[in-house]
Amino acid sequence: MTQSCLLEHEATTASAETPPKDPFAPGADGIGETETLAPGVYFLKGATRYFREGAVSGPAGAIRSLMCNNGWVDLGDEVLLIDANMPGRADALLAEVRRTTDKPIRYLVNTHHHGDHIYGNRPIHERTGAMIISCTEMVDELRRYETGAFGGPPGRWEQVAKLRPDVAATPIMAPQVTYDRRLVLQGSARTVELLHLTWGHTRGDTAVWLPEERILFTGDLVANGAFNIVRDGEMERWPEFLSLLEGLRPRIVCPGHGGWGDAELLSRQRTFFTALWAQVDSRAKAGADLPHILSRLEELRAALLADPSAALHVIPREADLPVLSLAAQVERVFGQLQSSDSTPPTS
Ligand SMILES: [Zn+2]
Repeated sequence: MTQSCLLEHEATTASAETPPKDPFAPGADGIGETETLAPGVYFLKGATRYFREGAVSGPAGAIRSLMCNNGWVDLGDEVLLIDANMPGRADALLAEVRRTTDKPIRYLVNTHHHGDHIYGNRPIHERTGAMIISCTEMVDELRRYETGAFGGPPGRWEQVAKLRPDVAATPIMAPQVTYDRRLVLQGSARTVELLHLTWGHTRGDTAVWLPEERILFTGDLVANGAFNIVRDGEMERWPEFLSLLEGLRPRIVCPGHGGWGDAELLSRQRTFFTALWAQVDSRAKAGADLPHILSRLEELRAALLADPSAALHVIPREADLPVLSLAAQVERVFGQLQSSDSTPPTS
């Protein structure tokens, strides 16, 4: 199975099963319920099969539920919204924002280029006029993977559009404003910083930092209870990004998928990727090729599970999917061990 397709895989498997009850029903593990993290700072937990519970309970309904967490911040006179989600969720998301504030949504930040974070850009922009912002390297990622949107051959959007009418009806809308490393948005009541510190989950990640409240939104640099999909990940740099974020000493960390927590979410995630890299690297240095490493994958899984901090991110064998599996994570690391193209540009 190609990378296209977690989504494709979900569609096929989902259609063969009875649709489950709406995963956004209030009370479904906090999913779809807005939480107030500080006055004017909100977190809405999405549901995706990247969640541990989703992976274990099977893919049914995954197409409907594929979405990310969202956050929004009252800057004083206007609102900043974090991530756009899927187009079919735009109205529900905006209605949730409207339950908390009637101030205009002026900014929409894309934490990275993945469809569950940006395919809703267009309807949100059309309904609110929000200016879409990302780091410059996120647009490079869009050009790399969403080729169809830039006049090239079909990319990921076209794959997903075959499966989701909401996506098919909504061409990609790219960010309108980009920044390189750090952008500070000064509201009348609070300041928000957008940080693109190095490569990580993708080459174009933005973390959203509220310095006064010490609240951090990480996008998919961190997952909590969800597993990490790493197909665009920069596996050696990822821990470095996390460690830079740890240096901010956040009080609250909001991941891209899964519930919010404290700074331990960052260190736990960093420990996992550092351990994963070390496990693959030591085998490669001892002369093992990829097929050999994969043939003894359970030894590697056991080694990762031995560290209680890393263990939380280890995909259980029974939950493995072709593109969301320990094997896929190991392959990504192994590929990057061999690659010379693994250094981000310095600012
Ligand atoms: Zn992602």
